[in-house]
Amino acid sequence: MASIVVLGAALGGLQTALLLAADGHRVTVLERDPHPAPPDPDEAWSRWHRPGIPQLRLTHLPLAGWLRLAEAQLPGLVERMTAAGAVRMNALAPEPGLRGDLRPADARFDTLAARRSLLEHVATHAAESAGVRIVRGVVCRGLRAGDPADGPITTGPARGRRVPHATGVETSTGPLPADLVVDCTGRRSALPAWLRDIGVPGPVEEVGRRGFTYYCRYFRSADGTLPADTFPLIAEHGSLGLLRIPADHGTYSLGLISRGDDHELRRLLRHEGPWCAAVRLFPGADAWLGGRPITDGVQIMAGLTDRKRTLYDDVHPRVTGVVAVGDAWALTVPSIGRGLAMSLEHSLRLRDVLRRTGVTERLDPIAEFGRATRDGLDGVYGRSTSYTEHRLAEMDAHAAGRRYRHPDWGRARALALLAERDPEALRAERAAAHLLPGAAAELRAPALVEAVDRLIPEVQRRMPPGPTRAQLLAAVAAG
Ligand SMILES: Cc1cc2nc3c(=O)[nH]c(=O)nc-3n(C[C@H](O)[C@H](O)[C@H](O)COP(=O)(O)OP(=O)(O)OC[C@H]3O[C@@H](n4cnc5c(N)ncnc54)[C@H](O)[C@@H]3O)c2cc1C
Repeated sequence: MASIVVLGAALGGLQTALLLAADGHRVTVLERDPHPAPPDPDEAWSRWHRPGIPQLRLTHLPLAGWLRLAEAQLPGLVERMTAAGAVRMNALAPEPGLRGDLRPADARFDTLAARRSLLEHVATHAAESAGVRIVRGVVCRGLRAGDPADGPITTGPARGRRVPHATGVETSTGPLPADLVVDCTGRRSALPAWLRDIGVPGPVEEVGRRGFTYYCRYFRSADGTLPADTFPLIAEHGSLGLLRIPADHGTYSLGLISRGDDHELRRLLRHEGPWCAAVRLFPGADAWLGGRPITDGVQIMAGLTDRKRTLYDDVHPRVTGVVAVGDAWALTVPSIGRGLAMSLEHSLRLRDVLRRTGVTERLDPIAEFGRATRDGLDGVYGRSTSYTEHRLAEMDAHAAGRRYRHPDWGRARALALLAERDPEALRAERAAAHLLPGAAAELRAPALVEAVDRLIPEVQRRMPPGPTRAQLLAAVAAG
């Protein structure tokens, strides 16, 4: 039995801890926020102080790909979440392109609508009842370096090099040894600095130059039901996107998304009046403003971009004894909602590698996990950065009164248009968006590819839906 320290007791760290504890490892989770989860999941929203998760009260929806993995690999977790009020929701059903009824096979598009605080609350109790030790109010401050003369020696083309080895962590309450440290400290992970402190260069890091800003509010409907309008979960106009996401206990959120450097909108959207005016510009969204607000003002989060860190070169790790999982490894922009699904997939890959290599081997688990990460998740990350780049360019073009033309984006927009008209295309497009298995093959179907190609000229001729930039700014300023 190995001793594993997981850093961070949010969903990513808790999922990892549950998986590794189920394999018999001795798992300790260190969490900097001192407050335990309150007993009632609905109260977690109003009473749980969790500054370590700045996005806790911003729009969240796990993808169907997350639900599929969670049900298969984390027994009982989803049942606990639904018992606490999370609502099983089919991500296909609200899409305007779906004509006719859902089929039984469309259950693959099910996901779980809930506020992030409820998901955190339930995962915390599930981990505790599975015997995971969660130590709160303890801050990881760095890694413990092993004796350099004792580091594992590389083999293969770059053989003979000693790799630094981490033997645990330094914390606010003293050192803690471990066979393996798993960094799940999310978007603010300080791993690069911790590595530099023990003489490890890197990791190699790529960061998007630009990103998005979120402007969110949560509401509670008077009678627990949502507006009956058919709605897409995400709608994109030229300069703005809108998320309409149902949640638990009759709550739901509305989130506007702009370019991070759209200072004109940022000045306006922080205020409730202009924010409501911007929401009303999306067809059918007015009805969603009728609920009682349950957030203070407009919750804003900026700097939302993609970022990936690599602890491994093609052949050899830079360091052993430590891995980064989920957001600590790679951040993707939240508008496409991939964080939780990617993080669970990543934790599963770590568990599977450790089953094959054992934990006490030094080089093999790290090198294999590096390969598993690259083969399994780099592609998903790459598609996220491509979305970010093109969507920002489309927003730039819209603000300048131009159309944005790029062959890849033309294809993506043509697929989205086809999905509004053809339920089979909608299924293929949603399967890819929700990271469901087999989606790539569905998208490659010759009839679909031809239909998409036929639509590219049509989408390239038109501006994105919604108001012009001038109309948008005038309407929002008047709000
Ligand atoms: C605005 C926004 C909206 C999003 N919407 C979605 C969505 O709809 N769907 C989706 O799947 N994903 C979404 N995401 C992404 C999702 O929130 C992340 O993928 C997820 O939070 C990652 O979980 P995590 O546990 O790895 O990290 P985090 O949630 O960031 O948690 C990190 C934990 O580590 C702790 N910690 C940090 N430093 C230390 C330290 N030094 N010592 C000890 N503990 C420490 C923190 O206190 C915290 O508890 C969204 C993200 C944002 C920003």
